[in-house]
Amino acid sequence: MRLTRLVLSTACAVLTGTAASVAQDAPIVIRAARLIDGRGGVLQNAAVTVERGRITRVDPRSSAPATYDLAGLTLLPGMIDTHAHIVAHYGRDGRASNDGESEAERTLHALQNGYDTLLAGFTTVQSIGAPLDRELRAAVERGAPGPRLLTSLEPLTDPALEAGELRQRVRKLVADGADLVKLFASRSIREGGGQTMSDEQVAAVCGEARALGKRSWVHAHAASAVAAAARGGCFAVTHGFYATRAEFALMAERGVYFEPNIGVVIQQYLRNKPRYLGIGNFDEKGFAFMEAAVPVNLAAFRQALQQPKLKIVMGTDAGAGAHGRNADEVVARVREGGQRPTDAIAGVTSLGAEALGLGDRIGTIAPGMEADLIAVDGDPLVDITALRRVLFVMKGGTIYRNVARR
Ligand SMILES: [Zn+2]
Repeated sequence: MRLTRLVLSTACAVLTGTAASVAQDAPIVIRAARLIDGRGGVLQNAAVTVERGRITRVDPRSSAPATYDLAGLTLLPGMIDTHAHIVAHYGRDGRASNDGESEAERTLHALQNGYDTLLAGFTTVQSIGAPLDRELRAAVERGAPGPRLLTSLEPLTDPALEAGELRQRVRKLVADGADLVKLFASRSIREGGGQTMSDEQVAAVCGEARALGKRSWVHAHAASAVAAAARGGCFAVTHGFYATRAEFALMAERGVYFEPNIGVVIQQYLRNKPRYLGIGNFDEKGFAFMEAAVPVNLAAFRQALQQPKLKIVMGTDAGAGAHGRNADEVVARVREGGQRPTDAIAGVTSLGAEALGLGDRIGTIAPGMEADLIAVDGDPLVDITALRRVLFVMKGGTIYRNVARR
């Protein structure tokens, strides 16, 4: 028995070795006019060597022959959206309700959303979240075209649950395959954003997630809900429309990531009001809350930028109709919010990776990292809208897009 196993494993080793050496014989070299490494570094005329899905060399001012010569383009790490709802889509009638859809329709919409997102240069997305995410995550892992996916599965929203029950729900989510736990600690912005979960409930969820080695991502608008998340040991806060200087200082002190949204989600709702009006809390009052929140939210973002050591990551909260337009959030942060382009780019690359617990695998162009590389038309450090012009996309060494400049 032992001998049989040994023979089998040796045979496998031989086969693997053969396949690997074939891949090794053909390293891919990508050269571009400039390279932004995701951590503040910039190189001119750099060449990146990719072998077996990983970056093995980065050479500045290279003149070696390149497999892909992306003259005039800027090479960056694949972008990361830490907050999307990848399965969300408009229904058959063009409205944001999916009544009467089959499982197949829902699933294919989700796959399409993932593909649109990938082609827009987002090689990793955290979806927070829906149960269908799990099947999409598995499909992408099997090789279906889409961004690397992390999911919270269903969010925890019910403030009627006691702390003990909430802990139990966290354990169930993790057992079901959640990569992180999403908690609603406040109402929706369309309902004013007031705190819903008590400080004790928030701490119970985030503490249990942490004990299981998982991250927690907390929806919080009211300043008190943001503070509860920071004090409760939560990993990240999203939205934070009504957060003030005091909460940003607290988050920085506790190392809590902040994921604001100033350029995609509310703008998408306001632009597409007829698609939403009459569904759930998308009533006239809800739209009035959102319109009033836009300047408040922008002011909060600008305040957050003033806070030293606050880790601001890129997340869009992209829903129906926004998949593939994720870079609009980065553009808004620079153009309207006043964030430095280099910081906004770090937020959508290296810092985003760190906030997903993947900082040692993705988000930076450096030897040893997975080969998630994109190239854009122009220099995003000078013109941030270049991030909307993605002409080359590689994920894990596989090229999904390589088109000529228009
Ligand atoms: Zn969301």
